[in-house]
Amino acid sequence: MDTKISFNKPFIVGKELYYIAQAVQSGHLSGDGTFTKKCNAWIEAHTGAKQALLTHSCTAALEMAAMLCDIKPGDEFIVPSYTFVSTVNAFVLRGGVPVFVDIRPDTMNIDETKIEAAITSKTKVIVPVHYAGVGCEMDTIMDIAKRHNLLVVEDAAQGVDSTYKGKALGSISHLGCYSFHETKNFIAGEGGALVINDERFRERAEIIREKGTNRSQFFRGMVDKYTWVDIGSSYLPSEVVAAFLFAQLEEAEKITEKRLLLWNAYYEQLKPLEEKGYLRLPVIPRECSHNAHMFYILLENLDVRTRLIDVMKSQNIHPVFHYVPLHNAPKGIEVTGKKVSLPITEEYADRLLRLPMYYELAFDDVSRIVGVIKEFFQA
Ligand SMILES: *Cc1c(COP(=O)(O)O)cnc(C)c1O
Repeated sequence: MDTKISFNKPFIVGKELYYIAQAVQSGHLSGDGTFTKKCNAWIEAHTGAKQALLTHSCTAALEMAAMLCDIKPGDEFIVPSYTFVSTVNAFVLRGGVPVFVDIRPDTMNIDETKIEAAITSKTKVIVPVHYAGVGCEMDTIMDIAKRHNLLVVEDAAQGVDSTYKGKALGSISHLGCYSFHETKNFIAGEGGALVINDERFRERAEIIREKGTNRSQFFRGMVDKYTWVDIGSSYLPSEVVAAFLFAQLEEAEKITEKRLLLWNAYYEQLKPLEEKGYLRLPVIPRECSHNAHMFYILLENLDVRTRLIDVMKSQNIHPVFHYVPLHNAPKGIEVTGKKVSLPITEEYADRLLRLPMYYELAFDDVSRIVGVIKEFFQA
C-alpha cells in the first residue's frame, strides 16, 4: 500500500522548544509576558491594527468581540451558516439571535448582496467569515454597516497573512479574530488573537480579557489598585503557548510561500479536469491575495463526493469535507425559532471536498493525489 497522506500535519519550524525554554527560564509563565508581547507586536506590525491581544483561541477572541459589541438578549447578528460553530456560538452566548445569510457560489463567503435584506431594527453586527483565507467583499460590507450604523466583526480564523485590497484580513472592520489552532497555517496548538481596529474598544478589550478587572491599567501604573469593573473572563494564553507561536510567526513568510507553491501545483494539475467539466476549482477574486490555507474542489453532487472520498481512502489519501450548515442544525433551528432555506449553502456544503494541504506535503504527493482524481474521472 502507498504511504499514507493525511489531511493535515502540524508543521514545527524548529525554534519552538528553544523559545519555550526561554519562557520557562524567565520565571514568568502566566499571560502577557515577553513572548505574548512579541506576538502582539508581530500581529500589529503585519496588519496595521491599533492593538492585537493574544487569546487562548479564536473562539475566545469571538466571545470577546461579542461582549465588546454589547450584544444583549434579542439583538440580531448577520452571519453565514457555512462556518465553524464558534462564529455563531460566541454571540448566542450573550443572547444574540443569528440571522443566517446565504453564501456566494464562487468563494463560499457571505453573499454581500443578500445582507441588506436581512437587516432589521434589532440588527447590531455583521460577522463575515473569510473562508479558506480568501477575503469577503469587505468594501460593500463596510459600506452597508456604515449606512445602517452596524458593527462588523471579521472571523479571520483562516485568514492570517491574507489581504483584501492590500489590507490584512481581520484589520478591515471594527474587530478581527484570528486562530492559531493546529489545523491553521501558523500554530500554537490552541491559540488565537483579537485584532482591534477601532480605538474605542481598546480599554474595554483589556478589561474583558483580564476577567473584567482593570489589572492591565494597574500594571501600567494608571490606577493604584485593580478591581472588578466589567464582565469578562480569562482569555490570556500562557507564555509557553506564546513562545511556541512566536517561533511560528517568525517563519510566516516562508510558510505562506511554500503553501502557495503547493496550492498552485494543485490548481495547475487539476485545471484540465475543470476545463472538461468534472469539477470546479477555488476562485480567488482579483482584490484578494491569499495564504493558501485550504485547497478544495467542488464535485457535481454528494454522491460523486462520497464515491471519490472512498476511492481516495482506498489509496491511503485522506481528504475531508467541511461544515455541516448551522441554519438547519438542531441548535440553529432552536435559536432562530425557524427553519430557513439557504440553497447555495445547502448545495455547496454537499459538494465541497478539501484536499490534503500542509507545509510538509511533497510535490510528488500532490501529483499522486491528482493522479487518483484523474483516474476516478477516467480523464
Ligand atoms: C478554526 C476556526 C475557528 C475557531 O478557532 P479556534 O482557535 O479553534 O477557537 C473559528 N472560525 C473559523 C472560520 C475557523 O476556521
